[in-house]
Amino acid sequence: MDPHDQYLKAGEIARKVKTESHDIIKQGAKYVDVAKFIESKIKEYGGAPAFPVNISVNNISAHYTPTIDDAKTFAKGDYVKVDIGAHVDGYISDTAFTVKVGESDDDLIIASKEALSAAIDMVRPGVKTNEIGRVINETITGYGFKPIENLTGHGLDRYLTHSSPSIPNVDTGQGVALKEGDIIAIEPFATDGAGRVMDDEQYLIFKYLADRPIRLPLARKVMQTIKRNYSNLPFAQRWLSEIYTKRKTEFALKYLVRSSSIYAYSVLKEMDGGNVSQSEHSMIITADGAEVYT
Ligand code: MN
Ligand code: MN
Repeated sequence: MDPHDQYLKAGEIARKVKTESHDIIKQGAKYVDVAKFIESKIKEYGGAPAFPVNISVNNISAHYTPTIDDAKTFAKGDYVKVDIGAHVDGYISDTAFTVKVGESDDDLIIASKEALSAAIDMVRPGVKTNEIGRVINETITGYGFKPIENLTGHGLDRYLTHSSPSIPNVDTGQGVALKEGDIIAIEPFATDGAGRVMDDEQYLIFKYLADRPIRLPLARKVMQTIKRNYSNLPFAQRWLSEIYTKRKTEFALKYLVRSSSIYAYSVLKEMDGGNVSQSEHSMIITADGAEVYT
């Protein structure tokens, strides 16, 4: 299959899973059950997770994925951001949506959705990334909210979840012109808070960094599993907990982070504790626009 078809297939998988996951995000449902459902459906449809499904609620903006024994459940009115990545032979789809549990979409959700639509409408070769950011910012402020200025969309490449160019959610003054054939993900975040995220100093998602001497036998074993199963793609503490138990996994991951063998993504929270919505699509830049494949 040529890369174009692989991207389309990865997108179709993510799209199907996205539709199906809507029904199970209900009051009282456990985050971990939704995460497992989504990740197993990705596999069932012939793909693999490109990263752990992110389930980030209310002021938690990104990079939360449940632990193996996570007791958290959805409450009515929660803003649930579900960010799904699937890949087929390394070709990645990345897409996200927000639901308000037990309620219909309100302006906060509509603001990021509309910002994404407005961005997609203007995308074509020659458009600069900061111009996309300007339109996202204008759309979200039009609804009375702020975009999150230190989260961005990005390029996608084979087995690479974040490549250049980055696609800002505000006008950064200068940008990179898009070219035909670029693969990008655009992801506006809207908030009623400050419009910035900060580290929550909680680490649930990790990524391979480099081969380093590892003296601890358990950590060495875990590192082998990481390289074999996930290569350069982000992985969840939860996935390794299924193999090694949570206690041993946490211990090994800490060791591997300290030795700079792996990178830890911090959970990100809105600086002022504001609620956050997110919308994201992946697309291929065509001669006269964009082919959205998620
Ligand atoms: Mn995403
Ligand atoms: Mn993304």
